[in-house]
Amino acid sequence: MLDYQAPENLLKDRVILVTGASDGIGKVIAKEYGRLGATVILHGRDTNKLEKVYDEMVEAGCPQPAIIPLNLVNATMEQYASLAETIAKELGRLDGIVHNAAMISELAPIEYTAVETWQQMMQVNINSVFLITKACLPLLREAPNASIILTSSGVGRQGRAFWGPYAVSKFAIEGFNQVLADELDNSNIRVNAINPGATRTKMRATAFPAEDKYSIVAPEQIAPLYCYLMGDDSLDVHGQSIDAQPK
Ligand code: NDP
Repeated sequence: MLDYQAPENLLKDRVILVTGASDGIGKVIAKEYGRLGATVILHGRDTNKLEKVYDEMVEAGCPQPAIIPLNLVNATMEQYASLAETIAKELGRLDGIVHNAAMISELAPIEYTAVETWQQMMQVNINSVFLITKACLPLLREAPNASIILTSSGVGRQGRAFWGPYAVSKFAIEGFNQVLADELDNSNIRVNAINPGATRTKMRATAFPAEDKYSIVAPEQIAPLYCYLMGDDSLDVHGQSIDAQPK
């Protein structure tokens, strides 16, 4: 795991969008960015959960976060456009995005994967990443140094039976990372992907219900990599796909 100690003002005055900030890794990263001075835009689909994270951040003395609820399964093109417009209007800038939100379903062979499950997972895990990035790129281009962090997975690099649409969507994330990074070479925007590795969250428990959850790392333990890639200490890191828990 990366042994990076972020300076306490690393993200001062930055505005950063974290998708899937209501739970798991996204929630921890949002709070960590807030602790380092960022104004965090908390995205998720459950307003009550997002408001809880908001309250915890305000109580911890973070800059006042913003909340943008949007269900990525059925969000419309207009809603993606209005997400970027709201950020521009209310906060005036955008310095980074962590594309963290994703869904998983019960593991199943391709043959028995429901078409609707496949389509929903592609919509949430990869299509929304394209749509949010497309809507927000004009804002990111205006930032002094912007950072986009994508979220990959081990099954996005080596396919595994029964991981169907989840694995395929994460392969697409790896491809998106390479294409976008190539396009943004020599720009003010860097793009990288993180493979969190086995991490103690609701999603991990869904995929491995029999596992002793205390045998795997907590999201807090992988947070230093997310801080490093979002702050200016990583200005020369671009187009990488990085393991948060290297073997
Ligand atoms: P969680 O299930 O704990 O959190 C996922 C987040 O995404 C939640 O905030 C959830 O909202 C949100 N989300 C899910 N579906 C939607 C939707 N339709 N619209 C809007 N928001 C949605 O997952 P993790 O924290 O474990 O995963 C975070 C990222 O890390 C994912 O990209 C995952 O694929 C990746 N990853 C995780 C690993 C692990 O071991 N945990 C390993 C490898 C990769 P809500 O709170 O409402 O459910």
